[in-house]
Amino acid sequence: MTRGRIVAIGELIVEIMRTRVDSPLDRADEFIGPFPSGAPAIFADQAARLGHDVAYIGAVGDDDFGVCLTDRLAADGVDIRHVAQVEGVATGCAFVTYFSDGSRKFIFHIGNSAAGQLPQPTAEMLAGADWLHLCGSTLSASEAMRQACYQACELAVAAGARVAFDPNLRPELLGGEEALRRICAPVLEAASLVLPSATEAELLTGANSAQAACEALLSDGVQVVALKRGSDGCTVFSADETVTVPAYSVEAVDPTGAGDCFDAGFVVGLTEGLTLEQTGRLANACGALGATARGPMEGCAWRSDAFQLAGLGQPEGD
Ligand code: ATP
Ligand code: MG
Repeated sequence: MTRGRIVAIGELIVEIMRTRVDSPLDRADEFIGPFPSGAPAIFADQAARLGHDVAYIGAVGDDDFGVCLTDRLAADGVDIRHVAQVEGVATGCAFVTYFSDGSRKFIFHIGNSAAGQLPQPTAEMLAGADWLHLCGSTLSASEAMRQACYQACELAVAAGARVAFDPNLRPELLGGEEALRRICAPVLEAASLVLPSATEAELLTGANSAQAACEALLSDGVQVVALKRGSDGCTVFSADETVTVPAYSVEAVDPTGAGDCFDAGFVVGLTEGLTLEQTGRLANACGALGATARGPMEGCAWRSDAFQLAGLGQPEGD
């Protein structure tokens, strides 16, 4: 196995979720948590569980929610040397509730918490990296986080790393389509891999179908677009081929985080030199397994389970 060095940057938050569906967030009811979360953190944990070297750039507060996050990432092998502990500031958190139509609603405390105080990326943090992964949620959280992401992209490109971007744009954090495109532009320029949902691809490009949107991203210089399609799997676009890969059938308990697990499977597949179809299978397997556990990071698959579900045989490196 080719072990890649993958750097992820962005918000570290704990998630606290309603125990019942259809329980709005504006009244008293039960919650369960904290669960370690933050889209880039789920990605990092999943990539580490797949056996790669993963480093994280982020920040927590000096409280027990911060310990919940750093303990978990460290236990799964993520290098947390560049996770700052900000004194006197609370760790970021998100409250989430699910509705029976499959939709969900969040209350975020990101930009106004330690999660928003990303360390200034340095060349040393990106040295030797094969990949930098970042997310739209980080870009939309605050101006300071945006600038840190742009800086990390520049350093990644200078270090010869490929940039992977999940434009996981949350309506709660957006400032309109124009703002969104402007905010994402510097990252898209650096990105060689983009992993959107259909809505995100359309929002990002202004195209009126997911396919047209993915093709527009390719003509803008992105090398591979992995379109995530929930329980329908994914479609992978490149200059040479378009491959649709069906999902694996699982009992989905909590879809939050499935997209980030998918991203990690995809980056790992490309790093290990798998074909686009095999990479799509590995990513779908990680996404499917990610949806089977309650808690965004709780379903992150171990290498042998993900490769087995993806039909990729017994992997080396376990
Ligand atoms: P999120 O942003 O909540 O993490 P997303 O919208 O980015 O999710 P989805 O398309 O929901 O991403 O899920 C990512 C991938 O996970 C899908 O492409 C698919 O491979 C897998 N997946 C998600 N939900 C299911 C499901 N119910 N059954 C099987 N596979 C699933
Ligand atoms: Mg997503």
